[in-house]
Amino acid sequence: MAETIRGLYMRGWAPATGGNYSHRKADGTIRISRSGINKARFLPSDFMTVNAYGVPMEAGSPQPSAETLLHCVVYRLFDAGVVLHVHTVANTVLSRHFTEKITFSGFELQKVFAGQTTHEAQIVLPVFANSQDMPALAKTIEAYYRSHECSSPGFLLSGHGLYAWGKTLEETERHLEAFEFLLACKLEMQKAGID
Ligand SMILES: [Zn+2]
Repeated sequence: MAETIRGLYMRGWAPATGGNYSHRKADGTIRISRSGINKARFLPSDFMTVNAYGVPMEAGSPQPSAETLLHCVVYRLFDAGVVLHVHTVANTVLSRHFTEKITFSGFELQKVFAGQTTHEAQIVLPVFANSQDMPALAKTIEAYYRSHECSSPGFLLSGHGLYAWGKTLEETERHLEAFEFLLACKLEMQKAGID
């Protein structure tokens, strides 16, 4: 997973120490990236363990990522094993323009999402207003999913970035790459005035 994170940095998806990453272990504890690490040099030792509520498990632990509570919400709501969060130009620009959701239809790549068999279906990516108050933002996100039918494995934070998840690292990478491809297409279509 550390190698995957360094790869995301190389693609320009984690500039300036941005982004955070986690996986859930069989005992329910979460291994999450520490705060402020340059992702170009991310090592396995840059993960730390928190419980299901984001509290560090080891005494004297360094600070976990500020967004740990958002990872905890995803694990609480979904049968996910891995969460990847990236800051890209396309996801940052489009999440400022679309304030509630971005809908994709007609793209062949939609089929890579679990349960999708045709490009004719719609993929909905919810957009939440960004906040520095993580407990409040976590509550907003949890409340949304508990009251909406939304099966796509990701959401955007406005002007901030994309969260994507899946059962395994491989599945989560596939979801993340598909979302970023669709967002890049959407941005190009907006620029060309054809969307
Ligand atoms: Zn972030």
